[in-house]
Order: sequence, then structure tokens, then C-alpha cells
Amino acid sequence: MGKHVPPLPLNETERLAALHDLRILDTAPEAHFDAVCSTAAALFSVPMTLVSLIDIDRQWFKAKCGITVDGTPRDLAFCAYAILNDDALVVEDATTDPRFANNPLVTGEPGIRFYAGAPLVLRSGIRLGTLCIIDTKPRSFSEAQRTQLEDLAEIVVAHIELHRKQLAVQAALEERTRAQEDILKARKALEETTDLLRLAQEAAGAGIWHWSLGEDVVRNSPESARMLGFSVEPGSADWIDISKAEWAEWVHPDDLAMVRAAHVAALRDDTVYKVEYRVRLPEGSDGYRWLMSFGRIIRDAETGRPTRIVGLDLDVTERHTTQESLIKSEARLALALDSGSDGLWDWDITTGHVWYSDRWQTMLGYMPGEIEPHIRSWTDLTHPDDLQQAQSLLKDHFEGRSDSYVCEHRVRTKAGAYSWILARGRVVAWNEQRAPLRIVGTYIDITERKAVEERIAHIACHDALTGLPNRTVFREQLKRRLAEVRRGRGQAALLCLDLDRFKTVNDTLGHPAGDDLLCQIAARLRATVRDSDVVVRLGGDEFAIIVPHLDHPHQASKLAERLIDAVGQPLDLGGHLVTVGTSIGIALAPGNGGTPETLFKNADIALYRAKAAARNNYCFYEAGMDAAVETRMRLELEMREAVMCDGFALHYQPVLRLSEDRIIGFEALMRWPHPTRGMIAPDEFIPLAEESGLIVPLGSWALHEACSEAASWPGELTVAVNVSTVQFQRPGLEQSVLSALEASGLAPHRLILEITESVLVQDAEAVIACLHRLRNLGVRIALDDFGTGYSSLSYLRRFPFDKIKIDRTFIREISDPGAAAIVRAVVGIATQLGATVTAEGVETTEQFEQVRQKGCTDVQGYLVSRPLTAEKAAEFIGSSTSTEQAYERLCGAERQDQHCACAA
Ligand code: C2E
Ligand code: CA
Ligand code: CA
Repeated sequence: MGKHVPPLPLNETERLAALHDLRILDTAPEAHFDAVCSTAAALFSVPMTLVSLIDIDRQWFKAKCGITVDGTPRDLAFCAYAILNDDALVVEDATTDPRFANNPLVTGEPGIRFYAGAPLVLRSGIRLGTLCIIDTKPRSFSEAQRTQLEDLAEIVVAHIELHRKQLAVQAALEERTRAQEDILKARKALEETTDLLRLAQEAAGAGIWHWSLGEDVVRNSPESARMLGFSVEPGSADWIDISKAEWAEWVHPDDLAMVRAAHVAALRDDTVYKVEYRVRLPEGSDGYRWLMSFGRIIRDAETGRPTRIVGLDLDVTERHTTQESLIKSEARLALALDSGSDGLWDWDITTGHVWYSDRWQTMLGYMPGEIEPHIRSWTDLTHPDDLQQAQSLLKDHFEGRSDSYVCEHRVRTKAGAYSWILARGRVVAWNEQRAPLRIVGTYIDITERKAVEERIAHIACHDALTGLPNRTVFREQLKRRLAEVRRGRGQAALLCLDLDRFKTVNDTLGHPAGDDLLCQIAARLRATVRDSDVVVRLGGDEFAIIVPHLDHPHQASKLAERLIDAVGQPLDLGGHLVTVGTSIGIALAPGNGGTPETLFKNADIALYRAKAAARNNYCFYEAGMDAAVETRMRLELEMREAVMCDGFALHYQPVLRLSEDRIIGFEALMRWPHPTRGMIAPDEFIPLAEESGLIVPLGSWALHEACSEAASWPGELTVAVNVSTVQFQRPGLEQSVLSALEASGLAPHRLILEITESVLVQDAEAVIACLHRLRNLGVRIALDDFGTGYSSLSYLRRFPFDKIKIDRTFIREISDPGAAAIVRAVVGIATQLGATVTAEGVETTEQFEQVRQKGCTDVQGYLVSRPLTAEKAAEFIGSSTSTEQAYERLCGAERQDQHCACAA
């Protein structure tokens, strides 16, 4: 017999391209795929299973069981034949199949006899490879087994699709790491600046003080106290409390009112203030010292009310004396010439010749004589942005509108950087027409002072943690832009954001992790908006974004979607991968308000609404929303009351065991009989309870109530209680289960806790340990809503669940082959694990038949019964437990509905 080479599929080029695009070849093993392989090996009792991908000249094994090699040449691959067709390829005995009889894998090791491979077919129709099972003995393979194998292959395909999504997530993660490095760098730079600032203060002999408004004393650093005339031990590091009255006594009486006015103005306008004033010299010495004092108002992050003033004082007496001398007479100038620290200049206005002192030139890094003694040197060195102002101030003085020329501006140094200087000057010679002929003046380097000022200004305008602008900036920017909008210049939008689950991260991983999270989120927000948009942190986990220019509301929703996506990407907090979400409220100007206050209030209302609707959601403000939000806030309040006053109820929905045709227990479902609003469904109040933390006492109440009710039921009837993810994140769940069992006397195995996959996603190790402890008590654990989340088979393998509940969305679509295949596969795996499978939400007899056929063990749904009050549940137990009667009840379902509603 000749050698058989597998033919190529018709779409081979396209197929290979799709395979390579997935970037799955030669990747490390993954639990999801391994889980399918080991499940298949157990299900069919075969020694070898593979997830094989067919590459250009090889087959490569993504997952394998019972095989050590990573792949084989394509020529030898059975799977290369299996991908020619959509149906599974079954070879019951390879020695009798001419395609394989001479294959070295048959004639030699491992001695393949039986092979069954189901192709992995992507939605696009591409067949990547197979899920296959292999035996060294010939076997027969039934039609049912073939279907089962194909079902498992569907799961592999689902995981490949997931892999594609993970690629995208990974790309985002890498992006985030880069962003994080940038933040670290920025932080380091900030620390260095802070250090520099401190050194600068020391060098400049600066005094620092802070005053808690409302208190009578101001706390002064030693230097500051010394400047105010107090005697301070040299080298002392102790801060000194000085009362306001004491301080006022030291201030020059002519300056006191001015300083106080500056405080008041700063408090009113929320600005950094700067004043120069005189204080008396210490006892015994005459005269005054000049202080230049900067202050910054610190506000309470929550209330916005001013709480403190922090300030910095510089002794500028020397400068004042120098200036006064200069301005008084040319004779004094000669004296000043000797003082040396300031640069001096003398300009002959008629010729343009300027004498620049040596110091003037060295101040800028030049050698004396290096600068051309002409006014054009000054024009050339002055910063182009400052030149016009300097010239206009000169002109004011020349034309008699000012007594002297005083100007702060930047000058280019030889090294090319800019220094800030304070220039002062005065005309000393005029002609007969009072036109100026000559002006002389000083040059003082104020770069350090400017740096301090800028730093203080920066602190006043930015959030210390994230470096984003703060409320003050936010208010100013919004006010400015809205004023323009009111004048008919375009539209703007305000987005208010609030993080979901931030508190949980803060509580479980600690504040440093919380801070890290806020910084990372801030960076993501910044990276997502345009440069012209303003992102601010309002405090806590609240952010706001001003979009100053908007052509269409659609742009705001697009931005909100991008923001939600950016925030929702996984975050690495010191090795912990967590995800948070965000909700966004949007208000548009001018439509939803023309003033910052209304616009902000309305965006906030929209935010509240977005949070109420679902997590990770955005919402535009609409007229009438205020009322709705108020209602919801009231609901939250009322819920708090109801928790305290036993205002909730449990209803019980029976669970039918198909094999025994009887009711085996009930699921407890919470209801809130509201005094005015009627019965409120859990979907409406559970999320609210989770958000506010009320779910903890509420969940504990449900456990006690359900256990004590179940204790009154006969026989072994079980009760299932839903446990929220939030209950796992807070302490006390185990204690509450124990005390519920103890108080009711219910046998632990009659209690089932229903949890969803989301419980296992975050901090899985701790949760799994907790589940094991609960299970050791005898309590049973059910995996609820299977099929709605990740539905990863690996979750099933991480914890031995007693029960898997397939979500009703799957049951609703059970006629769809994909959904049906997954239900069958879950049943297969559950059987393997010794778990029962409940089909949820069975409403029709067709669904009932389908889930029975697919092998579900239990059924829950309106077909059997709606949830019943405790009383009706007891009656139900008494009356019937058989399926036939359940069918009968179906005919009376309408009636029963009404009944339930009334009972409720
Ligand atoms: P769940 O755990 O999936 O509960 C099943 C839900 O499906 C119940 O809704 C039930 O009334 C409904 N259902 C049952 N059979 C059918 C059917 O044939 N068709 C349809 N369309 N629906 C059916 P319910 O009572 O509104 O509860 C909704 C969710 O609220 C529950 O979903 C559960 O996640 C949560 N919940 C209810 N009680 C509690 C509780 O005590 N604690 C916690 N944490 N969550 C609870
Ligand atoms: Ca449930
Ligand atoms: Ca469920």
C-alpha cells in the first residue's frame, strides 16, 4: 500500500491566516483547555485526548491528556483528515482503514487503533483543528457519543473565542504598565521638586506657618517666629504658637488693615495671596523688617469650606532698603553699587547705550564685558512673551504715569534657560520738554521665589494624590466656558464619574492600594479624553470631566463608552489583579443648565440614575429626573428602616427532582412588601442593598428566616438561600450561617447556599477556603446563574459544587444548537463531578422535555410553580409533589399568578 498524504482543505490559505491571527500556536497550556481534555478522557474512558491545531506542516497540541509530545508532522495527523469536514471523523479500527493502516503512529508507537475527532469550527466556518480522543484498542462509537464529543468541541471553540478577547485585554494591560511607569517617573520628579522646595526655603531663610481658621493661634516654624521678632534658639526645630493678638501687635499699624484685607480677599476669591508688610524689630532695636508673605487657603475636600491657611514668609527688608535708596538719590546708588548682589543698569535713552554692571552679566551666566552695551541686548534677551509688557511699563514711567519702572519678567541666560528677574528703574535725567534722557535701575534674580510661587499655585489648583486639577480649577473652568456658551458659543458637556467597587478595594487591599488605584484610573481618564477636555478629581472616588466643545450629544455618549471601557480594564495593584467599573452622568450646556451649579447638580442626578440602572453605565440628564432620583434616595432610606423593622419577606419556589418526580426543596427569594409601592422585586432593591452595604444585615436575616421556615418542613426538604458577592467580601458570613443553623435547628445538609461565579472571580483563594469551611459544616454549595458570566469550566474544577444551576437565558434558547450543546456538556461534566444540574426558569412543556432529554436532574420554573409565600409553600408541600400535578397546575398558572400576587 502507498503512503497516504492528507489533502488540503479548499480554504487552506484563509484557514492558516485565521489560525495565525489568533496567536495561540506555541502558547503555554491553559486550564480551560486542559479541563476539556481531562473531562473528555474521563467521559469516554480513553487513554489519550487532544486539542490539536493544524498548522502549515504540523499539528500542534494546545491541550493534551496521556501524550507527551507537543505535536507531529501534518502528514501523520489523523486530525488533518478530520478538518476536511464539519462532522466528527470516527475511525473505529485504523488497521482496516487504507488512509491510516501504514501510518507510523498505527504501525509503531503509540499504536493508534481508535480515533474520533470533532473539528473546531469557528463562527466564520474556519476549521482550526480538532478535539479528539484516541485509544490503542479498536472501539465502536455511538451516535450519542459523537454528539457528546461535538458538544465538548463547541466548548473548546467558545474558549478560543475567549482567548481572542483576552488578547485584547492583554494589549490593554501592557498599555497600562507603560502608563504606570510614567506615573512613577512623575512621582519621583515631584518628590525631587518637593525636596528642592524645602532646600530653597532653608536657603532663602523662609518662614512657614499655618493657621486653622477659628483657632486663636497660628503655628509658626522657628524661622517664621524669628522673623516676627520672637527670640528663638539658633538651630531650634520647635514650632511656636503665636496668638493672633500677639501677631497683630508686631505688625506695622499702617500695614495691618492691608494684610487682613488680603486674607479676606483670598478667602472670598479662593486665590493664593501675596502681601508685603512690615513687622517690628525685636525689643531694643529700632525700625521694621519687611516681610513678603504668601498664603494659600486649604479647603475641606468634602464641604469645600476653608479650614486652614498655610503661608510662607520671606524677609525682603534688604530689597526694600536697596530700592528705597535707589529711588531716593543717585548718591545712594553708589552705595548700592557696592552691595553687589543685584545687577545694575544705566541706559542712555538718546543713544541706546546701556551700562550693564558685571553682576548683571554674571547673573545671566556671561563673563563681564560679554554682553554688548546696548539696549538691543536687553530686547534680545528678554523673553518674547514678556517683552511687550516690559516695554509698556517703561513707557508708563517715561510718560509720567508711574513713579518708577517695576517689572517681573524672564531673561534668557547664556545656557539658554530663562531666569525670572525683578527689574526696577527710575528716570534720573530729563530734557526741557520733560522727555527722559537717562534711566538707572536694578536687576534681582527672583527665579527661586517664582518657583516657590508657582509651586504654591500648583498645590492650590491640583489634587495632591493624582495630580489632576481640583475643585477650584473645575469651578473656574466651568464658569468661564459656560459664560461663553450663554453668549451663544457652541455646546459643552459635563460628565460626572463615580467608581464602582472602589470602597471594596480600599477595604480589602488597604489605602495604599486604593491610592494606587485612583492614580491609575486618573491616568486612564486623562489618556481617554482630548487635550482640551478638563479632567478633575472632586474627591474620594469621584471625578468630573468638562468637554468644552461639543457638536453633538452623540460625542458625549461615545466618550462615556470609551471611559467605561478604559476604567473597566483590569488593574494591577501590587500583584492583585482587580477590576473596577464606573458610572457616568452627563449634562449638556446650555440645554441642561447655564450655570455651573445647575449643570453640576443635573450631571450628578444623571449619575445617580446611571448607578441605579446598572453598573458600568452612563446616563444623560433628562427633565423630571430630579423627582425620580429623589424617589430612589427615599427608597434607600426606607430600605434602611425596613431592614431594622423586619420589613422584608421570603417567598419560596419549589425545585422538582425529575428522576423521583417529586419536590426536593425550595429556593428562598426575597420580597419587599412596601407600604405604599406594593411588592418590590429583588432585582430592584438587591443592587441598592449591595451598594449601600445593607445586604449584609439583610442577607443574614434571609439566612435566619429561611432556615427557621425550612425547619418546619417535613422530611429532607432543602432550602436554598442566595448569597451576594458583597457578603463574601465582608466579614461575618460564616458566623451568620452558623447562627442561623443553630437558632433553627435545621440540619446543615438541608441548607444550600447559592453563589454566582462573580464570587470566585475576585480574591478566589480566600473565597474558596471559606466555601470549603462552610461545606465542612455540611452545608451545600450551588453555582447559580451558570452561563451568564465567564462560565469557565475551570471554575467548576476549582470548587466541588454540589449543584449547578443553568441560567434561564440558556433554557429560553434551548432550541438553539449552541445553547443545547453547552447544556449537554455541562450535564456531562456535572455528572462527572457528582453534582446535580438544575434548569432554571422552565416555563413551557417543550423546555421541560428538552431539559429532561439533555439530562438535567432538577427543574425550577413557573411551569412547576411561581415563588410562593411561606404559607402557600407549606400548603404546596401538603398537597402535591408529582410532575403530573405540576402539569395540572400549569393549566391553572394564570389563576395561581393572581393568587400569588394577592398573597404577596
Ligand atoms: P435567581 O437567584 O436567579 O432567582 C431566580 C429568579 O428567577 C427569581 O426571580 C424567580 O422568581 C425567577 N423565576 C423562577 N422561575 C421563573 C420562570 O419560569 N420564568 C421567569 N421569567 N423567571 C422565573 P426573583 O425572585 O425576582 O429574584 C431575582 C434575583 O434576585 C435572584 O435571581 C437573585 O439573584 C436575587 N435574589 C433574590 N432573593 C435574594 C436574596 O435573598 N439574597 C440575594 N443576595 N439575592 C437574592
Ligand atoms: Ca438563585
Ligand atoms: Ca439563578
